[in-house]
Amino acid sequence: MTDVIARRAELAENLARVEERIADACAAAGRGRDEVTLIVVTKTYPAADVRLLAELGVRHVAENRDQEAAAKAAECADIPLTWHFVGQLQTNKARSVASYADVVHSVDRPRLVNALSGAARSHGRELDCLVQVALDAESEAAGGRGGAAPESVATVADAIDAAQGLRLAGVMTVAPLTGPYAGRPASAFDRLREISTGLCTRHPAATMVSAGMSSDLEEAVAAGATHVRVGSAVLGERPRLG
Ligand SMILES: *Cc1c(COP(=O)(O)O)cnc(C)c1O
Repeated sequence: MTDVIARRAELAENLARVEERIADACAAAGRGRDEVTLIVVTKTYPAADVRLLAELGVRHVAENRDQEAAAKAAECADIPLTWHFVGQLQTNKARSVASYADVVHSVDRPRLVNALSGAARSHGRELDCLVQVALDAESEAAGGRGGAAPESVATVADAIDAAQGLRLAGVMTVAPLTGPYAGRPASAFDRLREISTGLCTRHPAATMVSAGMSSDLEEAVAAGATHVRVGSAVLGERPRLG
């Protein structure tokens, strides 16, 4: 029991620190605190932590692997949470992800749109979808992290918009580790914001901009992110996976 109490205190303290960083970043950017939603990325941490986070007021959680996410969402089915899926997604996992996710941030190709649409309809659910943009694809192939090249965003967005069971909600990116934006998250997020503005001229409701993690949430808020995805700054450094 004392372990649970200690963990609760640790999460509360980390959350307070992240909350302060977001509030400061909003103030510095002349934005209202209510313009930015915190999504806590709980990957590799147990459902017990999700429960504590919910008790501490967290309403949005994210996962990046279907198997882990499905089990955790099932264990936490009694908690009012919005589940975000932020990992690279194979079409054969679409059916599972569509059963528990409310928002999928990593939609990057028409084939995946088709798979998610079929899955959402068969579960009788509506999924919010973001087009994941690979900014390192501007100079070279996108490496292993997924995402559509900037010139493909409109195609993927139009496919989502036309698909039954899916709603086009906006765009997402991860600050690139390679290419022209490596080490320049502020420039990467400015570019994402430009892409978002372009998308909104065609799809005015697709206003969500998902950007910024533990190390670069300030840059993301400055560039207009509406959602930040924060893992280690809340839950602690993750043990490195193989
Ligand atoms: C893990 C992850 C995050 C959170 O990263 P931290 O550095 O732990 O804050 C955000 N977005 C995606 C896509 C992730 O996979």
